Amino acid sequence: MDQIKIENLEVYAAHGVFAEEAREGQIFLIDAVLYTDLRPAGVSDELALSTHYGEVCQFMDQYMREHTFLLIEAAAEHLAKELLMHFPLVESLGLEIKKPHAPIGLPFSSVSVRIERGWKQAYLGIGSNMGNKQKFLDRALLEIRKHPEIKNVRCSEIITTEPYGGVEQDNFLNGAIELKTLLTPYGLLEFLQRLERQAGRERKVHWGPRTLDLDILFYQDFVSNDVRLIVPHPDMANRRFVLEPLNELCPWHYNPVTGKSVRQMLLELEKKEESHGQKKEEDTGL
Ligand code: ATP
Ligand code: MG
Ligand code: MG
Repeated sequence: MDQIKIENLEVYAAHGVFAEEAREGQIFLIDAVLYTDLRPAGVSDELALSTHYGEVCQFMDQYMREHTFLLIEAAAEHLAKELLMHFPLVESLGLEIKKPHAPIGLPFSSVSVRIERGWKQAYLGIGSNMGNKQKFLDRALLEIRKHPEIKNVRCSEIITTEPYGGVEQDNFLNGAIELKTLLTPYGLLEFLQRLERQAGRERKVHWGPRTLDLDILFYQDFVSNDVRLIVPHPDMANRRFVLEPLNELCPWHYNPVTGKSVRQMLLELEKKEESHGQKKEEDTGL
């Protein structure tokens, strides 16, 4: 992707573990690489279609001067997040903070930390089959939209589906959500579980009735097989109530484990269901 590069922005700020560092301050040098599409500004010659590097420099200077961190790791982490939230055209960035006068007591030219951070695209499954189902979905969607580290939220049409997994229970409302987030996969899971708790979700029976279920279906091309978090969602290929809404949002998104697109998974599931239906008809002699 295209880049805007800033090298060795000099900032006088007060970050460090020692008391005199916080009291007296010192010089920090910042390198930033902003990954962003420069073509619209390139074609039109309009500044409004790009990210103003002067404003980025002012922003970094002010942020570094107005905050005090013990570690340059923390300064970089927080500054990266603020930059990504403040400059909407920046998809991701590399940020290096150098501390050329760090109190090391040995000759050296500079010490620094460098991090890469960015917006990640995630897809969620949302469902409810208890109480005022639509209200639970609406409230969750509102909270998701309100989260400062989440943007570009799109929700599929909500469909009514029969329960899955063999437990006798009320019909479901199901949908899928697309979003971009700065949260890590586990950070996103924690946030979603908080919303489930706020909706009074109790886990009594696996696949049993629930006021709100929020599952991470995809998190960019991230793959995890941990008990707390399995991504991509392992059962999606067997679930029409997941694939149908997902197909509305991202038919060409592919599962990084199987290599199959959402559309392909849905077509295969439909074929499987059709041949099951035919077999049933043959068995019952219809
Ligand atoms: P299923 O995941 O088969 O749809 P479920 O949604 O009913 O079942 P829950 O009771 O909501 O299951 O969650 C059980 C546990 O699953 C949670 O404690 C959570 O840590 C874990 N989990 C694993 N992978 C995911 C994921 N991709 N999204 C959400 N939770 C997950
Ligand atoms: Mg689920
Ligand atoms: Mg769940």
